[in-house]
Amino acid sequence: MNEEIKKNIDDTNVDQVLRPAAWDEYVGQEKIKDNLRVIIDAAQKRGEAMDHILFSGPAGLGKTTLAFLVAKEMGAPVRTTSGPALEKMGDMAAILTNLEPGEVLFIDEAHRINRLIEEVLYPAMEMRKLHLVIGKGPSARTLTLDLPPFTLVAATTRENLLSHPLRSRFGAILRLDYYTEDNIKKILERSSKILGIEMAPEGVEVLARAARATPRIANRLLKRARDYAEIHGTGMIDGSIAKKALEMLDVDEAGLEPSDRKLLLTIVEKFGGGPVGVNTLAAALNEEKGVIEDIYEPYLMSLGFLQRTSAGRMVLPPAYEHLKIKKPGGLL
Ligand code: ADP
Repeated sequence: MNEEIKKNIDDTNVDQVLRPAAWDEYVGQEKIKDNLRVIIDAAQKRGEAMDHILFSGPAGLGKTTLAFLVAKEMGAPVRTTSGPALEKMGDMAAILTNLEPGEVLFIDEAHRINRLIEEVLYPAMEMRKLHLVIGKGPSARTLTLDLPPFTLVAATTRENLLSHPLRSRFGAILRLDYYTEDNIKKILERSSKILGIEMAPEGVEVLARAARATPRIANRLLKRARDYAEIHGTGMIDGSIAKKALEMLDVDEAGLEPSDRKLLLTIVEKFGGGPVGVNTLAAALNEEKGVIEDIYEPYLMSLGFLQRTSAGRMVLPPAYEHLKIKKPGGLL
């Protein structure tokens, strides 16, 4: 890679550089891409703004990237905000009244939009109307403004926390899945090429297995393995450098971090392997229930290490094998 370009890609803007800017750079999620293709083509054929869309799925799977790709395909500008950034009804009203015709409004963490603010969105999404209340008390008046055609693209990691009225106003809800190991390898290969990092096939494999099936984590591991390779090796990421970099990060070969192992071990050691209610577990771990449900559990469940049952969380046999521990009272 050209030295000049390499120099300009420092750690802070690496994420920007690695974000796919075209559909063919966006690896995997084929069903979602096909779905979007149809929705975009149909809107373009009718000469209308695209229907409102909700992307749902764990963090780092590529929801924001998709939102930008959709806007690019529609030839539309994008305005971005997030649920927690919208503090007052006026914040939402100001954004909506400033939209350009056809603009894509991207709202990340949509499940964290305050309910009162959410109500401003309903008529905006449905009828392109904004109802404003001017003044207070008996002299208060309602003013209705027409909004330009726009597309709301929202992303959430907690679809179940989204209110029903909001969810029902999206024309499509697209759920992103964890990536296959092959697709994570493709992402690692693409990123290492962009960053000018040399990788041996075994290095790619080791990092891919530990990337929690998540592109953002794959890229993060790649950056740290590059650091390790530059300091302790020749710069090339081979199998042994990749393993040592993971060790340094305290990430095991399945991608589990100390917090994941602590969660599993707590269920095993304090609650006989489960079932244990999530609130009890949260208290025992001194962790927020939402973090357990959002960050830790989805990946542990995808590995078949943990199960959510009506009676609570249970550790499953593959987790005992992975952690090399015995099931309480069991034969393993
Ligand atoms: P989310 O919004 O779901 O948290 P992002 O869209 O911010 O995730 O993606 C995180 C990073 O992962 C992006 O900057 C990009 O580099 C990478 N990424 C995500 N999805 C893909 C993909 N399908 N192909 C290649 N890289 C991806």
